[in-house]
Amino acid sequence: MPTDCIFCKIIAKEIPSDVVYADEYVTAFRDIQPAAPTHILIVPNKHIASINDLTEADAHLLGKMNFAAKQIAKAEGVDESGYRLIINTGADAGQIVFHIHMHLLAGKKLGRLG
Ligand code: 5GP
Ligand code: ZN
Repeated sequence: MPTDCIFCKIIAKEIPSDVVYADEYVTAFRDIQPAAPTHILIVPNKHIASINDLTEADAHLLGKMNFAAKQIAKAEGVDESGYRLIINTGADAGQIVFHIHMHLLAGKKLGRLG
């Protein structure tokens, strides 16, 4: 694990966060700067910098992240009203933290993409 990765530190509980879900493969916690009433980040416990760095052997972790998202959406009460799952990759997408993370956004009408 890179010592400078903020999300690795959150997973390791070295820095505090509002964790809403955790299992063997993924951890999910509330975004520190929410862009919607519900804004949760779902991350693989393994450090992978971005989708560009994903190997076929680790591709199943994206499935685990999506399945966690489904469960979190239900627990947050937004499964029926709707939610958006986003993974930013690279500069044009505005990726700031280089540890793969899926944003779960919900709780208001979300704008169009792009
Ligand atoms: P990105 O732009 O890389 O897709 O999104 C990174 C997200 O991580 C941002 O929405 C930002 O608010 C969130 N974030 C950055 N640092 C922290 C932190 O220390 N704790 C939490 N909970 N969220 C963070
Ligand atoms: Zn990391």
